Amino acid sequence: MKIFCVANQKGGVGKTTTTVNLAAGLAKIGQRVLMVDLDPQGNATMGSGVDKRKLELSVYDVLLESASIKEAAVKSEKVGYSVLGANRDLAGAEVELVALEHRDQRLRTALQEVSGDYDFVLIDCPPSLSMLTLNGLCSAHGVIVPMQCEYFALEGLTDLVNTIKQVHANLNKDLQIIGLLRVMFDPRITLQQQVSDQLKAHFADKVFNAVIPRNVRLAEAPSYGLPGVVFDPSAKGSQAFVEFASEMVERIKKM
Ligand code: ADP
Ligand code: MG
Repeated sequence: MKIFCVANQKGGVGKTTTTVNLAAGLAKIGQRVLMVDLDPQGNATMGSGVDKRKLELSVYDVLLESASIKEAAVKSEKVGYSVLGANRDLAGAEVELVALEHRDQRLRTALQEVSGDYDFVLIDCPPSLSMLTLNGLCSAHGVIVPMQCEYFALEGLTDLVNTIKQVHANLNKDLQIIGLLRVMFDPRITLQQQVSDQLKAHFADKVFNAVIPRNVRLAEAPSYGLPGVVFDPSAKGSQAFVEFASEMVERIKKM
């Protein structure tokens, strides 16, 4: 079982879209997937066909050790993967965790119990470098960083790279950046092409081959409670995510 965080401290960069569509893409090619929503907004939960308002148990209960993942995760049949959901309760976890021991290792410990049940665990992180994100980073073998090829994209990356280095040095020596995923890409925009070239020059093979285009079907899918890959498999964006899923399957063979 390999565990990946989808992280970028910026909001609206495509983390949740990447998490649910990669999960659906992996499920589609026969992988057993658990999606963990670590964002109190619960968008990845809703976008996986699970109603966050009706969750009996959530990732909050897992972090506070009042439930196991086996108890709290639900298989979402529509999307083909399991969901450890989140809702507003999770916003309180941040404060409640502060007083507890091993507060950054809670998710890691809980995941050990399901290591035989899944091939991939994908963790959707909130747009901050908080205790929740830290729980994700301490659990993971790698970080997938979705990014838009815009002027300030590289600047924003510095903080994330430094945080990952610190976590690697002090808390989780397995952790590495698996790769940068170019999302919402529009090749007609010269600047995006230039930033994309820059990324490849600086980060070489840390830039995934798959590129996710800007595609309205991916943006529409969440309102139907589905990842684009399930909502409209023929859309360009959905096809790109299935390609990305295959690339991830190849990548983990080298880990
Ligand atoms: P984050 O989780 O980083 O805040 P989201 O995944 O929620 O970002 O994406 C932000 C917005 O951009 C959402 O409205 C989403 O539907 C839209 N979006 C994400 N990826 C794409 C894409 N490839 N094409 C078009 N819209 C996208
Ligand atoms: Mg999100």
